[in-house]
Amino acid sequence: MSVGDLAELIRERQPCVVLTGAGVSTESGIPDFRSPTGLWAKVDPLEYGSIEAFRSDPLKVWSFYKPRVAVLTEAEPNPAHEALAELEELGFVEAVVTQNIDLLHERAGSREVVEVHGSIRTSTCPGCGDRYDLPRVLELLEEADAPFCPSCGEILKPDVVFFGELLPADAIDRAYGLARRARLLLVVGSALEVYPVAGLPLETIGTGGQLAIVNRGPTGFDAQASLKIDGTAGEVLPQVVGELRPPRA
Ligand SMILES: [Zn+2]
Repeated sequence: MSVGDLAELIRERQPCVVLTGAGVSTESGIPDFRSPTGLWAKVDPLEYGSIEAFRSDPLKVWSFYKPRVAVLTEAEPNPAHEALAELEELGFVEAVVTQNIDLLHERAGSREVVEVHGSIRTSTCPGCGDRYDLPRVLELLEEADAPFCPSCGEILKPDVVFFGELLPADAIDRAYGLARRARLLLVVGSALEVYPVAGLPLETIGTGGQLAIVNRGPTGFDAQASLKIDGTAGEVLPQVVGELRPPRA
């Protein structure tokens, strides 16, 4: 299957909704959590990534998250993020549903972004409920190993979904609604292994839509996909934009 075939599918089957996973951000230097060489293969998620761990020892969890937040804030959008923003600008992409928490779609210029695992945009105080945006949390992290709430002194929790936490209901509802009305769901950089996000392709297919996949390596839905390109997002998506971009007048 070629890039040209994918561009044709996107042109023909509107609206197109994009679902992105960790593979979109690895080219920005952000390590994948769940791959065999990912972070959770080296660090026990129950000790550092679960809501129980955060409740029992938030300082220990922040000892893991603090350097990670630094990596996320220093990362830059890569050609895959930029290509998806341009496809939206050109009218070929209705929205991006992402499992990533790194804000890179937004920073690349995507406007309709549904963050189903939350993001590092804000952190919330479990004590008093006050919410702080990322620049303020980074300031607090300069002063201490964890961000203590300026109002009540408790340790803030980033508004990302921890293991053992429910996904944000509004974002999930919106993602499922988008998947149901999509005539094409384009999956990029996800092996589609994590539910409920992995259920989105079934919503699209169940309402007569089609599935296209750009991913390095197999996914759980290769057999159901109309088109699969085995490649990295940063290589493939800019070529797709090149096919769909109108010729200069
Ligand atoms: Zn507080």
